[in-house]
Amino acid sequence: MNLLFHFFSAYSVCYFAFGGVREHILLIFIVSIFIDLDHIPHILKARQQILGDGFGSASRTFLHELLGLSLLSAALCFLLSFSLLPAKIAEIVALSLGLHFGFDFLFGKTRPFYPFSREEISLIKVSKKQKAYLEFILTVVLGVVFWITVA
Ligand SMILES: [Zn+2]
Repeated sequence: MNLLFHFFSAYSVCYFAFGGVREHILLIFIVSIFIDLDHIPHILKARQQILGDGFGSASRTFLHELLGLSLLSAALCFLLSFSLLPAKIAEIVALSLGLHFGFDFLFGKTRPFYPFSREEISLIKVSKKQKAYLEFILTVVLGVVFWITVA
């Protein structure tokens, strides 16, 4: 899913889960999209292929798979258990991260056990065209929800 979708979905779900989160908008923005920074090396290497095929599972590092989710969750638990992070911030970070991983697993091709296995799975079978339409519609709908809730 695209960066706007990740941000709008994280903000909207955090808004409805925790009430007003406007003061945490920058945190939600950063946490909801920073995982996708691992696409940058792939973008630099395979620009032409990305224009045609989009981002595949090969563009993701282990941080974008279950191992990354486990490591980031453990780090968050560590910070929370030693009171290095306020509980509400930890909840917002956990929800934003979880949504990013969840939507990537749900709508994309993923290698969940990478780097231990390169087997690629896809939970929802849709064509590239259907995925593009779905992503566009969901991004617009969540953008409207964001616009309404942030105002
Ligand atoms: Zn992602």
